[in-house]
Amino acid sequence: MSQPTFERLASQLDRLGLWRAKQTLPETLKLAEDESHGYAAFLDRLLEDEIGAREERRIKNSLRLSGMPFLKTLDSFDFAFQPSLDRGQVLDLASLAFLARKENILLLGPPGVGKTHLAVALAICACQNGYSVYFSSLDTMIRALAAADRAGKLDAKLRTYTTKSQLLVLDEVGYLPLSRAEANYLFQVVSSRYERSSVILTSNKSVTEWPDVFGDHAIATAILDRLLHHSHVLSIKGHSYRLREKALAAVGTAAGPPA
Ligand code: ADP
Ligand code: MG
Repeated sequence: MSQPTFERLASQLDRLGLWRAKQTLPETLKLAEDESHGYAAFLDRLLEDEIGAREERRIKNSLRLSGMPFLKTLDSFDFAFQPSLDRGQVLDLASLAFLARKENILLLGPPGVGKTHLAVALAICACQNGYSVYFSSLDTMIRALAAADRAGKLDAKLRTYTTKSQLLVLDEVGYLPLSRAEANYLFQVVSSRYERSSVILTSNKSVTEWPDVFGDHAIATAILDRLLHHSHVLSIKGHSYRLREKALAAVGTAAGPPA
């Protein structure tokens, strides 16, 4: 290909916003020439590069906007440490059929057993597969809704937690008790998503303890009723991974050389 033709092609890719195709144009051209690929194979490779780069950018943006506290995947989850957890069930959930069926996931268990890690890992799978995800602790959501309510903007703020994401992760439900008005915000979110879009929720309390946390038994029952109707409940009964890391560090120190 002559230099003017190459430059014209690069400039047209640029004008079309196909920046990755423009970037890989020299090597794709060289490969096509070296391996005598036809025009169709050349174009196919060029577009594949562009689409791959766009997909990567979309996932990165979507993860950035999701508000997740950290990015950890199922690959780094040590299932052997948590035998009460059914690995097959978790991997099955990672296939994301629950999202298509608008089902919920409740991850229950004491602190440090990996509830947030698992919620984030499943949410990352969702992002990678084109679903929009929003992550919030319950406390942050309640405070945001209460502030919006005081400013007369509750409806707009509610949309952040309802229609704006296909998956909502609500972390740390039950750590702090809720007043009746606060529980009512949670009810509005849960009932708006009911049978429309999924929620992954983590809690250190078993569902039988929820009525006491939510102050109002009627609201707690109404929330639970909707959450549990189409849901997967995973109760993790093991030890804290955080304490395991601490214990390992202590053993490491004890076994280390004398100072
Ligand atoms: P929880 O939300 O149940 O309090 P986290 O998910 O925040 O616990 O886990 C605490 C820390 O321990 C995190 O850094 C998490 O990645 C890690 N962790 C927990 N369980 C495991 C596990 N089974 N395998 C690997 N890392 C784990
Ligand atoms: Mg947590």
